[in-house]
Amino acid sequence: MSEVLVEVKNLKKYFWPDAGWFARPGQPVRAVDDVDLCIPAGQTVGLVGESGCGKTTLGRLILRLIEPTDGKVYFKGQDITRVNGGKIRRLRQQMQIVFQDPYSSLNPRMTVGQILAEPLQIHHLGGLTAQKATVRELLDKVGLQPEHAVRYPHEFSGGQRQRIGIARALVTRPQFIVADEPVSALDSSTQAQVMNLMKNLQQQEGLTYLFIAHDMTTVRYMSDLVAVMYLGQIVEWAPVSEIFAAPLHPYTQALLSSVLVTDPSARPPRACLSGEIPSPSQPPSGCRFHTRCSQRQAECADHEPQLKSVGENHLVRCPLVEV
Ligand code: ATP
Repeated sequence: MSEVLVEVKNLKKYFWPDAGWFARPGQPVRAVDDVDLCIPAGQTVGLVGESGCGKTTLGRLILRLIEPTDGKVYFKGQDITRVNGGKIRRLRQQMQIVFQDPYSSLNPRMTVGQILAEPLQIHHLGGLTAQKATVRELLDKVGLQPEHAVRYPHEFSGGQRQRIGIARALVTRPQFIVADEPVSALDSSTQAQVMNLMKNLQQQEGLTYLFIAHDMTTVRYMSDLVAVMYLGQIVEWAPVSEIFAAPLHPYTQALLSSVLVTDPSARPPRACLSGEIPSPSQPPSGCRFHTRCSQRQAECADHEPQLKSVGENHLVRCPLVEV
C-alpha cells in the first residue's frame, strides 16, 4: 500500500440557513457529516453519489476552499485546518482543483496564456521568460498548440477548454488534484480523451486524484479506490474491482444497476434506485438510506450504522451486512 497523501478525519460541514433577525434558525444542511477518508499517494480515489450528497463540499473542504464545521484534513501528515497565511498559500500550490464547467471557471477576458501565467504570478514562480516557457510546456502536455496561448476561452471546444482547465491546475506543479466532475459536461468520445489525458499526466507527474463523479462508468475507468457517498456520509469504500464485482451496500448496488448493461447475458440489476433523496437537513433516522432501500428491515430505522470492515480495505455502513 502506498503512503497516504491526504487523510480526512471526522470531517463535517453544516450550512445554517440564513434565518434573518427574528426568525427561528432552522435545521442546518448536513452536507458532509462525519467523513473519514484516506487518499494514497499516486492513486485515484473515485467519489461517487447522487446530486446533492455532498461530493463537491467534501472536495472543497479537503482543499480548504471552505472552512469545516468540525474535523481534520491532513496533507502529507500536516493538519491543514490549522494552517494560515503564507503556509496556506504554499499548500495551495500543491493542491489544485479542476472544475466541471471549464467555461465558467475561465476568465473570458483573459487569453489562455494569461490564464495559465496568472497562478505563476500569484505564487511568484519564475520571471517572465520562465513563465512563458512553462505556459508553452503545459500547452504541449495537455495536447494544445503554442499558438493557442493568444486565443480566448470562447474560441475553444468544450474538450479543449477542459484541457486548459487541467493545464491551469498543473501550472504550480501540484501533487494532489480534486477533479470535480471534470468530464460530466463532455460528449462520450471527448470524455474518453480527457480521461486518458488525466491518466497519462498522473503517470508522468506522479499525481494523486480525488475524482468526483455521479456516473459509475467514469469512476470505474479512472479509480483505484472508490468511496460511495449518500446524504453526507461514506456508505461504502473498497478497491474499484471489488466495488464493481461484489458491491455490498444496497445503495452501491442500486447505483450500479443504473449503469448501461451491454452484455445481454449479464445478471439482472439487484436493486433499483427509487424515490427522491431525502433532505440533508433532516436525514432519516437509523440508516439514512432505509427510506429508499429495497432490502430494508424494521431495525434499519432504529440505530445509525457505523462503517464496518468486511475485508481487506473494504468498509460498509449497512446494518444488514454481516461481518
Ligand atoms: P452535485 O453533484 O449536484 O454537485 P454534490 O454531491 O456535489 O452535488 P454538494 O454540492 O456538495 O453536493 O451539496 C451538498 C448539500 O449541501 C446540498 O444539499 C446543497 O444544497 C448544500 N449546499 C452546498 N453548498 C451550500 C451553501 N453554500 N449553502 C447552503 N447549502 C449548501
